[in-house]
Order: sequence, then structure tokens, then C-alpha cells
Amino acid sequence: MSTHNIQHYINGQMSAGESGQAQDVFNPATGQVTGRVSLASHADVDAAVAVAKTAFPAWADTPPIRRARVMFKFLELLNAHKDELAEAITREHGKVFTDAQGEVARGIDIVEFACGIPQLLKGDYTEQVSTGIDNWTMRQPLGVVAGITPFNFPVMVPMWMFPIAIAAGNTFVLKPSPLDPGASLLIADLLKRAGLPDGVFNVVQGDKASVEALIDHPDVRALSFVGSTPIANLIYERGARNGKRVQALGGAKNHMVVMPDANLDKAVDALIGAAYGSAGERCMAISVAVLVGDVADQLVPRLAEQAKALKVKNGMELDAEMGPIVTAQAHQRITGYIDKGVAEGAELVVDGRDFDASVTGEGCAEGFWMGGSLFDHVTPEMTIYKEEIFGPVLVCVRVPDIATAIQLINDHEFGNGVSCFTESGSVAREFGRRIQVGMVGINVPIPVPMAWHGFGGWKRSMFGDTHAYGEEGVRFYTKQKSIMQRWSDSIDAGAEFVMPTAK
Ligand code: NAD
Repeated sequence: MSTHNIQHYINGQMSAGESGQAQDVFNPATGQVTGRVSLASHADVDAAVAVAKTAFPAWADTPPIRRARVMFKFLELLNAHKDELAEAITREHGKVFTDAQGEVARGIDIVEFACGIPQLLKGDYTEQVSTGIDNWTMRQPLGVVAGITPFNFPVMVPMWMFPIAIAAGNTFVLKPSPLDPGASLLIADLLKRAGLPDGVFNVVQGDKASVEALIDHPDVRALSFVGSTPIANLIYERGARNGKRVQALGGAKNHMVVMPDANLDKAVDALIGAAYGSAGERCMAISVAVLVGDVADQLVPRLAEQAKALKVKNGMELDAEMGPIVTAQAHQRITGYIDKGVAEGAELVVDGRDFDASVTGEGCAEGFWMGGSLFDHVTPEMTIYKEEIFGPVLVCVRVPDIATAIQLINDHEFGNGVSCFTESGSVAREFGRRIQVGMVGINVPIPVPMAWHGFGGWKRSMFGDTHAYGEEGVRFYTKQKSIMQRWSDSIDAGAEFVMPTAK
């Protein structure tokens, strides 16, 4: 099979970089190497930041409406090429094609939002704050900003960041995951064709070394990170120590509570889709079912039946429901968690380790395959409850009542997403108010906020205080300036030595 080189994109051009380092990129469905991705050195990162710095003054000076027009053109091109992007995702990530199409669509939502940047950047104005004095605030871009993104959404997560950052007048350096870097270059090409000046959007491929170079670079003003909690924590601390703005979104363990009054048919479907969709490799996947009262006895057999019936196959097959695991290492990690769950005494109702890869499609025998797994009688002390598995493993915890369910969730270290299935308005209201989690769904299993609402978890699922995208995103990528103005005909003669107050 032919492989291709996936390079950096600096100043409007592909660049092999100077490091000479590269790593393999796989198609997880076939297990075959499809490409080699360059790994940036410190000097490669310096080169990208330098061109972004050079491009900044002219781009920041470009009127917002003209920046928005580039976004409109980009939007048009994205819509024309959305299936190409989805195919690139499936090829390197493995998720099923229809899910990849959904990922691209949710990214496009943010570009649509960014097209409204002139309205979003409008400041506030107060006439006559004191006699003859007016005061206004405006928001200005920061300079060069960087985005460091995870493997699980190679199109959508970068689009949580750069459309808003760029529309607001910043220049951008994207550092995608080296596991599925291909889509970043398709995006770069579409931005160029949309008329974005060279140097405004750059891509450095790489891993730890390139991230460290970005965190320590004095010309990078802000870092947006999405990935696992240990790295999010590290980036937040080190970035803040270097005086940067940081928003660092981390890992998750999302619970779905099923109350005895819930519509159980809908709850089963929701759990199956949210636990096994994208092979559980979503930060908003449901990985814990919290079954209240006698719900478990009815629900677990039905979940088991559906988990066994999942259509696990090459994501390009249109009836596929779940694709492969992203890498052989991730496959090994998930298998290790299942082993541990058994060793710690949970009941393994469906074992995804026993999986016959011959059903996955032609040429897929060497892919990174496993089926969906289901555990029952899981307790809060078990590793499979405490840690993020990030794979197709659903664990069921039985609790007597809603108060215990809420306490259980609030005690967990993560607080990204959560869901409650109930037909009771008062349970839903109480749940929404009491739960210590950033994104809450009532009868919605994966409550990813829309483009204009902003995305972010609580507790150790997010470090920093400004959520991704929406108006929070605009605030993150701009700084406020207040201007107070008067003219000499309203200035009294003589020096003033007291604190000025409104006159
Ligand atoms: P990861 O933390 O391994 O990698 C994320 C990014 O950090 C990548 O670009 C990677 O190259 C870089 N990186 C990895 N190790 C590094 C190190 N030691 N120093 C500096 N940079 C490093 O995460 P992943 O496996 O790509 O993605 C899965 C994780 O991301 C899961 O924990 C998932 O919950 C989380 N995630 C969170 C959200 C959210 O919005 N909260 C969204 C998507 C994914």
C-alpha cells in the first residue's frame, strides 16, 4: 500500500520541517500504515510562530466584516468538501463515516457562528459618564494563539478554536494529534482557497516536544487545549506560569442516570448509542449507567442483547455502527481495564475482548478490533468506575434513589457531561440544579452545547475559566480595552489630586 507524508503547513505552504523525525499513521480498520507524519522540532515551531507573528498586525487591522467574509467563503468550501473531510476522519480515526459526517457538521456550526464576528466584537458605549466624558469598551485580538487537539475529533475540536480565534483577528498555530493529522491539511487548503492570507493559519505536526515549544514560546499569547486530564493539567499550570491565557479541557467519566419512571425503551437506545458510538472514544460518551431502584433488573438484559448485536465493522460500510479502536496501544489499554474490572469483582455481562474480526469487512483482519463490553454490579471503589477507559465499555452502578445517584456523580473527579432519563419535572429540575457537572442532559444522552452556547466541563474535566466556543470563546480570544475620552472644553483648569468621581 502506498503511504504519504503528512507535513507541517507554514505561511501558506507545506513544509517538511527540519527535525527529520516522523511517525507512522495507521488506518485502524486495516491495521496498515497509510502515512508518515512529520514531528516538529523546536525550530519548526519557532518558524510557525514567527510567520504567525508577522501576519498578525495586518490581519488584526483587517475590518471584522472582511474577516467574516473569508469565513463565509470557508463555510461554502467546507460544505462542498464535507464528505472528503469525513472520509479523512474515518480513514485515520476509524469512526464510522456517518458519525464522521456528524463531526464535520458540528464543526461547521462553529464556522457559521464565527461568521457573525462583527456583531460579537461590538463593544459597549456610555455617553456622559461624567460631564463631558464618554467611556467605551472594545475587544481586541491577542496576537498569535495556539490550539492543541486530541485524536478523537480531528476536525470538530480544531473548529471549536480557530474559526473564532481567526475571525476575532488573531493568527493561529494548530498542533493536531499525530494519530490522525490528515484532516488538518485539508482544512488549511480550504482556508487558503477562501482567501485567508498566508501566515494567519498554520499547522505544526508533532507531539510532546512541539507542545512544549508552544507552551514556552514568548510570542504565543494563548493556548487552547483539548485532551486527557494529566496533559490538560500540565498545560494549564505551565502555560499560566509563562503568563499565557489557557483553556484546557480534559478527560471525562460521564454518567447517565435512569430513573424508574423513565421511558426504558428510549433509555436503552440512548445508552447503547452514547456508550458504543465512536467506540466510546468521545469525551461526551456515556461510560457509566446509574440505574435507580429496580431499573437494573429490567435494563441490563436489554443492554446486553443490544451490545452483543452491535454492527462493528469498517466505518466506510454504511451500516456500520461502531468502528475499530484508534491504535493497537489504545486497544491494549482498554483490554487491560476489562481484565482489571473482572479481577476487582465486577460482573462482565458482555465481553468485547471475544470478538470475531472476520465480520468487520474485507482487508480488516489486522485492524484494531473489539466488541462492546458491559459490566454490572460496579462499585465506586473499582478502577473501571474511577478512571476514564475511553473505549466501548459501559459500566452499570446500582443505586437506591436519586439522592445517592447525585452524590455519586458529584463525588467523581470528572464533571464533563451527565444525563438523567426521567419523566418527572421535579426530578429533572432538582438534578439540573444539584449536579456538579458542566453539561447536563435531561433525556438527552450527549448534551454537547450548540455553537453559540459554549462547551466546557467542571472539576478535573476543565482547567481555566473560559469555555470553548460561543461567546466565552470570543472572550477568550480577545482582550477588553476601556477608553475614556473628553475634550479640552470640558476640562477644568488646575491639577486634581483627589480620586476623580462623576461630576
Ligand atoms: P492526549 O492528552 O493524549 O493528547 C492530546 C494532545 O496533547 C495531542 O495533540 C497530543 O499530541 C498532545 N500530547 C500528548 N502527550 C503530551 C505530553 N506529554 N505533553 C504535551 N502534549 C502532549 O489525548 P488524546 O488521547 O488525543 O484524546 C483523548 C482524551 O481527550 C480523552 O481523555 C478525552 O476525554 C479527551 N477529550 C476531552 C474533550 C473535552 O472537551 N473535554 C474533548 C475531546 C477529547
